[in-house]
Order: sequence, then C-alpha cells, then structure tokens
Amino acid sequence: MIKKCSKCRKTRDIKQFSKNATNSDGYDHYCKICNRKRKHEYFRTSKGKAAMKRASHKRKK
Ligand SMILES: [Zn+2]
Repeated sequence: MIKKCSKCRKTRDIKQFSKNATNSDGYDHYCKICNRKRKHEYFRTSKGKAAMKRASHKRKK
C-alpha cells in the first residue's frame, strides 16, 4: 500500500508513515522523513527550546 505525503508530495510506502488513529486512513498525513524534519525545526525555534527545557525540568524531579 502506498500513500502520498502532503508535505513533500512524494508517494511512499505506507510503512514510511506513522500510525495516527485520528486520521481517516489511520496514518499520518506527513511521512516519517518530513515528521523528523518538522521536529528538528521545531526544536530550533524559541518555542521548541522552551518546551525542551520544560521537559528536562520534569525529568529532574
Ligand atoms: Zn514527506
């Protein structure tokens, strides 16, 4: 089974998509490659950095 990524517009094997029960087809709209990129970019933003800080604080307790 193949699926088209709505981010990079590439057609990939369904295995390249994460499972997401909230979507009608049960898989993410973005492929794993795009998701990884998105996460990476998010943690480079001030918002992402703040979220990372909060997460590390939680772990300390
Ligand atoms: Zn993609």
